[in-house]
Amino acid sequence: MKSDPDARTGTLYIVATPIGNLEDLSPRASSVLAAVSVIAAEDTRHSGRLLNHLGIHQPMVALHDHNERDRAAQILDRLEAGEDVALISDAGTPLISDPGYVLVRQARERGVRVSPIPGACALVAALSAAGLPTDRFLFAGFLPSKRGARRAELESLVSERATLVFYESPHRIQETVTEIQQVMGAEREVVLGRELTKTFETFYAGRADEVCDAINADPNGTRGEFVVMVGGSRETNQDDAGEVSTDKLLGLLLAELPVKKVAKIVAELTGRPKNELYQRALSLKAE
Ligand code: SAM
Repeated sequence: MKSDPDARTGTLYIVATPIGNLEDLSPRASSVLAAVSVIAAEDTRHSGRLLNHLGIHQPMVALHDHNERDRAAQILDRLEAGEDVALISDAGTPLISDPGYVLVRQARERGVRVSPIPGACALVAALSAAGLPTDRFLFAGFLPSKRGARRAELESLVSERATLVFYESPHRIQETVTEIQQVMGAEREVVLGRELTKTFETFYAGRADEVCDAINADPNGTRGEFVVMVGGSRETNQDDAGEVSTDKLLGLLLAELPVKKVAKIVAELTGRPKNELYQRALSLKAE
């Protein structure tokens, strides 16, 4: 373990940039970007527009998912030669569903000082205004794009008590909210943060079924960028062996009893709606 960075190396600054509103770039971010020898950017054309707006003309190199390993080696050489480097992504905080992990990891391994310049991050902005519990949350990035894998991931999170946070693209948002409703129940609390910090910033909040209806009814409901937040499971059915998920309970009882009876028993045990459990039991049985 190396915790005391080598003072002779340069510093790798991890600089957050705005997620929409350019005024969210901090004065410190601006001065760091203007002072480093080179700025590593996910997309140099995209970030070039921000830097132009700031009057910053430092040299840039591209560092994205497809070249990160090679590029990281070159950037580390420069850091080890004593140059300061800034890493930025297209928007928000680098490494948060964005490139940079390989570079930061290797920089730390090689004893290079890594310093964050904090600022906008869509998940934190969304959570801070959603009105959902924030004492514990689980950020799961983007859900898988394939339907089966996406559903499996949601199923694995059904009993999670922490608030769940996902990023989602506009063309999948309706499908994802519908699946949250199907997998986690129509009553599960859902909040969507759309176009945060931008002109058309909108929050949709309510039960999963209400939020689903709201975005389906809104002509702009599938436009822009989204953060999806889901209230944690409120199930309290615990025994000495630990947490028992509704699916596990349904599965165990389905092996012994007819679907209708299973739904009735689990509704009594968990307080969840019988109809919803009946539908869930039917799909578990079909699986
Ligand atoms: N690194 C970024 C951050 O710190 O938030 C996230 C990058 S990730 C590739 C892009 C995703 O973040 C978008 O698809 C969307 O889910 C979310 N996002 C970014 N900006 C947003 C905004 N202004 N409003 C809502 N969601 C946003």
